[in-house]
Amino acid sequence: MILLKNCFALYIDPADPGCKPLRGVDVLIEGNLISRVGRNLSAPEGRPGNLADVRSARIIDASRFVVVPGFVNTHHHFYQVLTRNVPAVQNAKLFTWLVYLYEIWKNIDEEAVLVSSQVAMGELAKTGCTCTTDHHYLYPRGVAADLMGLQFEAAERIGMRFAPARGSMSLSKKDGGLPPDSVVQTDRQILADSRRVIEQYHDPGPLAMRKVILAPCSPFSVSKELMVETARLARSSGVRLHTHLAETKDENEYCLRTHGKRPLELMEEWEFIGPDVSFAHGIHFTDEELERLRQSSTAVCHCPSSNMRLGSGIARVKEMLELGITVSLAVDGSASNDASDFLGEMRQALYLQRIRYGADAISVPQIFALATGNGLEVLSFSRLGRIEEGWGADLAAFDVHRLEYAGALSDPLAALVFAGVDHRSAYTIINGRIVVERGRLCGVEEARLVEKANRIAARIQSGG
Ligand SMILES: [Zn+2]
Repeated sequence: MILLKNCFALYIDPADPGCKPLRGVDVLIEGNLISRVGRNLSAPEGRPGNLADVRSARIIDASRFVVVPGFVNTHHHFYQVLTRNVPAVQNAKLFTWLVYLYEIWKNIDEEAVLVSSQVAMGELAKTGCTCTTDHHYLYPRGVAADLMGLQFEAAERIGMRFAPARGSMSLSKKDGGLPPDSVVQTDRQILADSRRVIEQYHDPGPLAMRKVILAPCSPFSVSKELMVETARLARSSGVRLHTHLAETKDENEYCLRTHGKRPLELMEEWEFIGPDVSFAHGIHFTDEELERLRQSSTAVCHCPSSNMRLGSGIARVKEMLELGITVSLAVDGSASNDASDFLGEMRQALYLQRIRYGADAISVPQIFALATGNGLEVLSFSRLGRIEEGWGADLAAFDVHRLEYAGALSDPLAALVFAGVDHRSAYTIINGRIVVERGRLCGVEEARLVEKANRIAARIQSGG
């Protein structure tokens, strides 16, 4: 049981432009659900069978906090935490960046996956994110472990709600692809393992802590057959699909040269489009392609920092939203956006659209829609994203009574996006459990994790 007392400003649904802050209300969380939102709530008396819960009751003074539903990150590559900020590719564009980094990434092993996943999810949780995916597509030869199993273990240690994508690559350099041969798998291996992870881990429930998505890496890293078979497997298993698409002009040229078609045309031919599909980036779509996304109800995961970092371009988010296309938000892998600062990413999304379309391009509630409800739709969670009785208890509380927010409290919600130098939440609560308390991860020794990550990063960067 957790009781947040006297919230400074609480938003039931910050994505709704008409949503006004509730002042001075309390939020009661019992089990993994929000059980009451109202004034002067008190911790429920001990009930038979519920004594343990009452003994562990937590009452939190929220009078300094803006409280919002937790954020949802829809694209990432956790392992890249170990290659943040590598000097040789600080100024490289996507294909050059990929070819250089694959030579380091091929050295990742079980420990690297476990530790990098904890670091990335820890960083996300500390900036208000309560639900994330990860697109892991590297399966180095010689690493036999269940990598998705290790990622779920990491999610459990952090307390994150986790819907990872089983990524895949089947084309290496010898087939005209970009990665070295040692990190790709055969179509048969990939499909068998995809089937296994769905059976072993996927929970279709609305408040699941574990879901699975299938995600061939991109149209230039897998075979046509794998794309088609993966889509069929996902549909027959009731799981969602994801891939990178339309990220760079180089990708357009590659697809035209190799297949005689633009990326989206290929996806249509390969049955990899529809209401169960999301594309990461989605920058270089034509007007006609945007219309096809709309008609097919395909979603786009917008990664503003990564797009700026690699100079890939500015996604047409404003136009997509006007067309009714679902757009979610994502920090992307940590080698192309070296921070997993989710609240910071919301500011980047707001500002990047304004560079392209002007100051009224996109509003704060729209940014919250990308960061909460749209993300939940993309990851397929239905009873999250509102601070309301009976909904899942995923929320973030930010202390706005600090120097960096002074003078910004006429609109506490917008203050979170426009102001602030430190995007750490005071509290992040996931599935009714406190995961971040006073800006620190609970139950995780951060200093030890940092030391381990740095040791592994040095090892893999120097050749394994
Ligand atoms: Zn990516």
